Amino acid sequence: MMKNTTPNAQLSFETQAVHGGRDDFRSLGVHAPPLDLSTTNPVTGIGSAAASLDAMAAGGTPVDGQAIYARLFNPTVDRFEQALAGLEGADAAVAFSSGMAALTACLLATRQVKPTAARPHVVAVRPIYGGSDHLLDGNLLGIDTTWARAHEVAQAIRPETALVIIETPANPTLTLVDIEAVVEQAGDVAVLVDSTFATPVLQQPLKHGATLVLHSATKFLGGHGDVMAGVVATSNAEWLAALRQVRVLTGAVLHPLAGYLLHRGLATLPVRVKAAQEGATVLASRLAEHPAVGRVCFPGQTSDDPTGLVGKQMSGPGTLVTFELRGGYEAAARTVEHLRLITPAVSLGSTDSLIQHPAAMTHRIVSEQGQREGGISPSMLRLSVGLEDADDLWQDLDQALTRAMESPVLDGQAFDGRAVPATDAATAPGQVLAIASGG
Ligand SMILES: *Cc1c(COP(=O)(O)O)cnc(C)c1O
Repeated sequence: MMKNTTPNAQLSFETQAVHGGRDDFRSLGVHAPPLDLSTTNPVTGIGSAAASLDAMAAGGTPVDGQAIYARLFNPTVDRFEQALAGLEGADAAVAFSSGMAALTACLLATRQVKPTAARPHVVAVRPIYGGSDHLLDGNLLGIDTTWARAHEVAQAIRPETALVIIETPANPTLTLVDIEAVVEQAGDVAVLVDSTFATPVLQQPLKHGATLVLHSATKFLGGHGDVMAGVVATSNAEWLAALRQVRVLTGAVLHPLAGYLLHRGLATLPVRVKAAQEGATVLASRLAEHPAVGRVCFPGQTSDDPTGLVGKQMSGPGTLVTFELRGGYEAAARTVEHLRLITPAVSLGSTDSLIQHPAAMTHRIVSEQGQREGGISPSMLRLSVGLEDADDLWQDLDQALTRAMESPVLDGQAFDGRAVPATDAATAPGQVLAIASGG
């Protein structure tokens, strides 16, 4: 339908972020993207409608602008997809109603891309986002998962392996995974990188050999805490077709208003990420000096990046800082409760700073073994740095950390810092799944 991807691949990333998905604005005489809320679209002829349906059934885009029905295609969402694909250096992108819907679509698409008599098999590296861990660890989609360490991916691959899944920087420890090293081990098996924490500003996984790059667009791409979405970008025609087919059939489409807001968010993405990264760098070094703080996990530090991936795979350390309290779970909980400016909430990548306790919140549904393998401890907090002044943020953190060393828990709710025993429930078919909280 519309012209493909970015205005011009020669243009810099920042320019593409502003102009992507907008090639036809002058001919349309508009300056902001049209927001098309139609659920159905009049056809110009029955023959052309049928041809367009055939094209979309094969995983393509509409013929002669015949979108037919909004579960098949929406032009506002399409603009966001083109713009995001351009930023990832991908041929195309497929947007979904959430990051989890995007991951689910990738898992279902394995059946299409690699049909097998056995159950589809994926290899995944911990840690990853708690909801993703739970989905992969359980039986809901009828997919087998082998958890492997990053350097042991090759040994975990079987004939029926359809996908290798990694997250870098990983949620919540910010561990970096060497994409090229995993791609090499994966051989001809596709590698999916959840690049939510990096954004295309800092890292473009397809350039390192990944087949699929996934974002919870709920985070940085939207960037203002008011859009829930997921997106997968790829240059692999087979995966692209399979993902579009899964979306049409399962219906986890993105609402056009969400597509509009995401497209708008992309224009400021480079500015937002770089500014937040500056703040995170300041806070990471001050946290490391604070007497209440034990370990600080921040990709800029050599101790967290022995092979020098920052500067090579990722252009900067990012905007999240994870740290452990010397006083364990009690001190971590107290710190969150004493913060005044920084919001205690899951999710990340918003204009305002958010802090959360992974073991109790985002990764509560991860099995105890999974938490251990992923290095998720009860004394750990994950801070998503926003666009506030770094000194204001530090003042808030400093007073909360200091008070936490002295005062009792305000909330009074006992929590031993351990994972809930959710894995058994998730693995046993027919049992209730635990709730995966966001971010
Ligand atoms: C939040 C998150 C997800 C899930 O995305 P939703 O939009 O909440 O469904 C997946 N991966 C990572 C790394 C996340 O932070």
